[in-house]
Amino acid sequence: MKLFAYTKTTEVSEAIKQTSASETAQQGAKIRYIAGGTTLLDLMKLSVENPGTLVDINRLPLDKIETTRDGGLKIGALVKNSDLANHPYVQTHFPVLSQALLSGASAQLRNMATTGGNLLQKTRCAYYRDTAFACNKREPGSGCPAIDGANRTLAILGTSDICIATNPSDMCVALMALEATIVIDGPSGQRDVAIDDFFLLPGSTPHIENVLKPGDLITHVLVKAMPPGSKSVYLKLRDRASYEFALASAAVIVQLEGGKVSHARIALGGVGTKPWRSRQAEEALSGVAVNEGNFRKAAEEALRDAKPQSQNKFKIELSKRCLTHALKIASSS
Ligand SMILES: Cc1cc2nc3c(=O)[nH]c(=O)nc-3n(C[C@H](O)[C@H](O)[C@H](O)COP(=O)(O)OP(=O)(O)OC[C@H]3O[C@@H](n4cnc5c(N)ncnc54)[C@H](O)[C@@H]3O)c2cc1C
Ligand code: SF4
Repeated sequence: MKLFAYTKTTEVSEAIKQTSASETAQQGAKIRYIAGGTTLLDLMKLSVENPGTLVDINRLPLDKIETTRDGGLKIGALVKNSDLANHPYVQTHFPVLSQALLSGASAQLRNMATTGGNLLQKTRCAYYRDTAFACNKREPGSGCPAIDGANRTLAILGTSDICIATNPSDMCVALMALEATIVIDGPSGQRDVAIDDFFLLPGSTPHIENVLKPGDLITHVLVKAMPPGSKSVYLKLRDRASYEFALASAAVIVQLEGGKVSHARIALGGVGTKPWRSRQAEEALSGVAVNEGNFRKAAEEALRDAKPQSQNKFKIELSKRCLTHALKIASSS
């Protein structure tokens, strides 16, 4: 690990001022915020990230979970994954979010990991994490060994010709189905960004993963109440039962009326270069009778544009079964 300066702050404005001096808020930034450190410190030890200064944001007043007037949530960026998952209101009213968080990492990691840090966690693509290899995301223009290499765990949706890295977050898949809003404060003021717009597809610039600009700080995540009577489920399939990233996952929110689906929000994990909202599946479910055949048809739609690589074709069927099963669980709960 390279030497770095360490500073801490208790004021949001001060944190932004310190960090906006950074050349870029993306890869290669000279100044970085540090929250739980469970992503950033690993990458610094691997020399994948080499910030000159860390600004410790753990003392900022952003660690509250509040309920909003409409029954939604205002989640501070420093709320720990474990606190959010185990909050009684979240467990009762947003089971999909609690389940997604509890399926991630380990208890120890969830006790450190924060909401803001989880949104910005990096891909687990092995080439990205090993500086002995080229990687367009780590070093733009250097190449992508994964395309002809070890790509079993990598993405099949939203890929480009130069990067097929999977977004590894579970929490973000649930937040995508919940249509969350990311609240950002920065040198040019505050702004709200819909989560689907927050994450960027790799395209020709896989090193730019989101809309954050230098100095931008995520302060909160807003979640609206789910429609009355909605059922929600997060289902995660992986190589082992715990402490493992998703090969395929599904966050589903459904409202059922008279044996039909009146409202559906669907997001997939483990298969996309960003947490993957499937509007195709939502459309396919709109107004249809609640039965396995219709759930499978929606899953077929969700994976219609999948583009597998040499080792991950199995993810297409796995993801379809995951979504179908998640819909069955949600509709029978
Ligand atoms: C062994 C292991 C297994 C894991 N398994 C899973 C899993 O199964 N599922 C899953 O979803 N995740 C998993 N994770 C990832 C884990 O959830 C993330 O590491 C964690 O959520 C990151 O949060 P953090 O607070 O520690 O972030 P940090 O490491 O502190 O920061 C991560 C990045 O976010 C930036 N940042 C942090 N907060 C802010 C903010 N408020 N505004 C702007 N920038 C900010 C930092 O500068 C840094 O670039 C695993 C991690 C490990 C190490
Ligand atoms: S898939 Fe993306 S992250 Fe992985 S080696 Fe290729 S460019 Fe790098």
